[in-house]
Amino acid sequence: MACFSALISFLADLIQGLDFLTIVTVLICFIFLFILLCASVKLNIEKTGKYILVYFVNVLFFPLTFYVGGGISSGVVLCYLLGLFVLGLLLEGKARIIAYIICISVFEFSIYYSYIHPEKVNLLEFKDTIIDIIVTLLIISATIVFILAMILNAYDNERKTSAELTEKLRELSVKDELSGLYNRRELFRRLDYIYQCKIGESVPSSKERCYIAMFDIDDFKSLNDTYGHQFGDLVLSTIAKIIKNSTYEEKGELAARYGGEEFVCVIRADSKDEALDRVDKMRIDILKTRWQETPKLVVTVSGGLTCCEEYDDLRVAIHDVDALLYKAKHEGKNKINV
Ligand code: GH3
Ligand code: MG
Ligand code: MG
Repeated sequence: MACFSALISFLADLIQGLDFLTIVTVLICFIFLFILLCASVKLNIEKTGKYILVYFVNVLFFPLTFYVGGGISSGVVLCYLLGLFVLGLLLEGKARIIAYIICISVFEFSIYYSYIHPEKVNLLEFKDTIIDIIVTLLIISATIVFILAMILNAYDNERKTSAELTEKLRELSVKDELSGLYNRRELFRRLDYIYQCKIGESVPSSKERCYIAMFDIDDFKSLNDTYGHQFGDLVLSTIAKIIKNSTYEEKGELAARYGGEEFVCVIRADSKDEALDRVDKMRIDILKTRWQETPKLVVTVSGGLTCCEEYDDLRVAIHDVDALLYKAKHEGKNKINV
């Protein structure tokens, strides 16, 4: 952008017909900035390039242009502000503070020196002053608008990426990677929320018509041993999908991976029989699943089902549903106990 501005300034000075010294100064600046740009990119020294740019433009080029280009009777003073704006964008921390102190001092001194030694300044005619200010203001405004547009665009992109990453992070913190279901921590956080309302309060309790079901895959260890862990993972994710598709989050239901091959789901039903029907349907859907790699294999689950309203303490409810599940295991597996 500095390179481009220098080129435009050079052309504008030519058109304005400013004196030879001014035009040559701007041309040298343009050539220097062009070489700096190429060197920074080619040699991958962009950080050093930024320093050179800031100090070259603010300490050397602008003060020099100030003297050859008309001093306070020209628009160069406006360039000082552009220099400070760009400095703020390019440098950071202490380097930025030091550069601000140096550059502002140089600017102030250059103006003060032109006051005590006016003969050193190539002052412009009043008419040329107006034209020079109009042209300089135009170039500087265009430069600032362009830089701001780039910054706002980058900020917008950054904000979008950051929002996407935050969402991804939130998802990762609440979901189990393999099954895609909520993890154990999120399950308890949500169950705690459900249990916040106590029975008997005037506000309708969110425990109302709420049931907890727990599933455990039968003989999963031997399935792993026989068909391998990779296939075991496939079984886990397929069963998770069946449980997930059988629960409706929009109705306040949820499905979670409770442990290695254990799942918990929270469902809402008008009666225990209705809840059992739904949970047993999940068991049958799992039982009926055919596995491409091993068509003869039948995977079953055992489970327990309990009604949230019957418990004041969530931990006791979980303990009881776990006990019901183990009862199902002892009774021959592939069944849901209530
Ligand atoms: P039961 O019918 O009594 O439940 O027997 P089981 O073999 O299913 O129970 P057990 O607790 O002995 O074995 C559970 C197995 O689940 C052991 C472990 O290797 C396996 N497992 C746990 N997490 C994963 C997982 O993420 N992927 C795979 N492939 N296996 C897992
Ligand atoms: Mg288990
Ligand atoms: Mg098991």
